[in-house]
Amino acid sequence: MTPSANAETIVNQWPGSVNVQGPVPYRREPAISPFPRRQRRIMNLAKFLSRLPLITNWMNRTLADNAAHARPVADFGFVRLPLFFSADLLANTKVIVVARVPAPPFTAIGLPEFSAFGNGDYSGITFKDTYFLQTSQASNESVHFHELVHVVQWAHLGVERFLSAYAAGLEENGYRNNPMEAMAYELQDYFDRIGQPHDVETSIRSQLNQLHR
Ligand SMILES: [Zn+2]
Repeated sequence: MTPSANAETIVNQWPGSVNVQGPVPYRREPAISPFPRRQRRIMNLAKFLSRLPLITNWMNRTLADNAAHARPVADFGFVRLPLFFSADLLANTKVIVVARVPAPPFTAIGLPEFSAFGNGDYSGITFKDTYFLQTSQASNESVHFHELVHVVQWAHLGVERFLSAYAAGLEENGYRNNPMEAMAYELQDYFDRIGQPHDVETSIRSQLNQLHR
């Protein structure tokens, strides 16, 4: 996900975002009493998991409603993405360019703690094999790259494991250090520095296997 350049600082952000402004600060709990924090984190995650069907229903409906506007990323004609991702992935990943990137209605879903995200202004967001991009980002190859990392994460983990891992990572580490985002940012940074082409999909799957052994 990619908050747009003029977005306000948002602490709770949703899967697949790129913060083009760099790391988002998050508040660390004091170290004096880690146990209550751990308990609260587990309860938050349990609450999140109980709302998973509502999130996935919303996501599937949103994808279906916008399916007519979906285009394969391969159609965008980028020259460097094919050096890092397979032709299959670029042919099968869909992009939907929109004026405003959709986000789940978290308050209605019963997760008001994520509502800052729902009101945010985003450059991109990935749901399964599809990502939404704000119109201004449609030709930004770097943002496509970031969202493609999330597409591979979704594909490797599956819907429930991806959402659970993302929520757990957010609870444990905050947005920028969430392992799912850290992986996307690190690879995107390599891409932006004109790193040598390599098989990014294999690298992502290998890193996910290390994280979720
Ligand atoms: Zn992201």
